[in-house]
Amino acid sequence: MPTVTRIFNFAAGPAVLPLPVLEEAQRDLVALPGVGMSVMELSHRSKTFEDILHLAEADMRALAAIPERYKVLFLQGGASLQFSMVPMNLLAPGTTADYIDTGSWAVKAIKEAKRVGSVNVAASTKAEGYSRLPTPGELKLTPGAAYVHMTGNNTIEGTEWRALPPVGDAPLVCDASSDIFSRPIDITKFGVVYAGAQKNLGPSGLTLVILREDLLERSTDALHTMLDYRTHVQNDSLYNTPPTFGVYMLGLTMKWLLSLGGLEAVAEMNERKAGKLYAEIDRTGFYRGTAKREDRSLMNVTFRLPTEALEGAFDTAATKEGLDGLKGHRSVGGMRASIYNAFPEAGVDALVQFMREFERTNG
Ligand SMILES: *Cc1c(COP(=O)(O)O)cnc(C)c1O
Repeated sequence: MPTVTRIFNFAAGPAVLPLPVLEEAQRDLVALPGVGMSVMELSHRSKTFEDILHLAEADMRALAAIPERYKVLFLQGGASLQFSMVPMNLLAPGTTADYIDTGSWAVKAIKEAKRVGSVNVAASTKAEGYSRLPTPGELKLTPGAAYVHMTGNNTIEGTEWRALPPVGDAPLVCDASSDIFSRPIDITKFGVVYAGAQKNLGPSGLTLVILREDLLERSTDALHTMLDYRTHVQNDSLYNTPPTFGVYMLGLTMKWLLSLGGLEAVAEMNERKAGKLYAEIDRTGFYRGTAKREDRSLMNVTFRLPTEALEGAFDTAATKEGLDGLKGHRSVGGMRASIYNAFPEAGVDALVQFMREFERTNG
């Protein structure tokens, strides 16, 4: 096998995948053992593919202790299509959905929900540049709300909920695209959890939806077939051709997470990685974290340098050192180190080293 050099990829998404997952996929790409063809050439109606899909689901259920009354769906359209499907299925006429506005992705979710029905923005930290999350006391919830929507981790702004917002009896709907399975998750606290796969689960093109069964009663026959959650539940995510390679890769990723020791072990690793970066950011004052300390994300570490010119120089020099993708989202500027589950700790150590050296020569 030719030797390849992998750089440290800090991109926000599509993001770094676990090396053992890539290596297994590479080994079996041309012919799955015992099958004689690539997983990408396999009929989605074949027993082999059904087994791949069911094993991916079973491993996920084991990893996150997902109870039977929750359905696991493998869909397409990204988290962005869930911005529409959630209200189309769950926001019945005459009811109101509460949305917590904590960043750019929440804004997009709110925009789509408003096209469907009545939306109450229960809290927003927009005035503070989304540098923090709302406190429980700031939430203005609707009594009897259809659901409350939250963004688990704000990928662009670098904030992440450590404790869930107290929302009473309303089903909590969570966009978990950028922090799913980065730590233990109590699924029973949610009505729906959804995530685009390309940050913590696998390649882009696949969307995971975990949904409490009783909520399916709200969907109506007025919905288009593909936009109706019931279609995908009734057909085991095989109503139409699913992104088969993505499901396979997600399955390998679930196996990898289990092999690490499960979500407690994964959380410990993520705490350690993010801790090293925040410690460096806080060490002198040359670097400045953009998120309020208590709300800092373990997945997307956002920070600024004294000037935009220095930020440009930092990015250029880092890229040269094999530290790629550190430029912040175009809407907020600054720097962002995305360090999802698959991002290796050695890459964090390399970045800390680089930050010290850059400060020494430019500070
Ligand atoms: C990346 C991201 C999205 C968008 O996901 P797509 O799969 O590209 O639609 C939505 N929400 C959050 C929190 C994200 O990080």
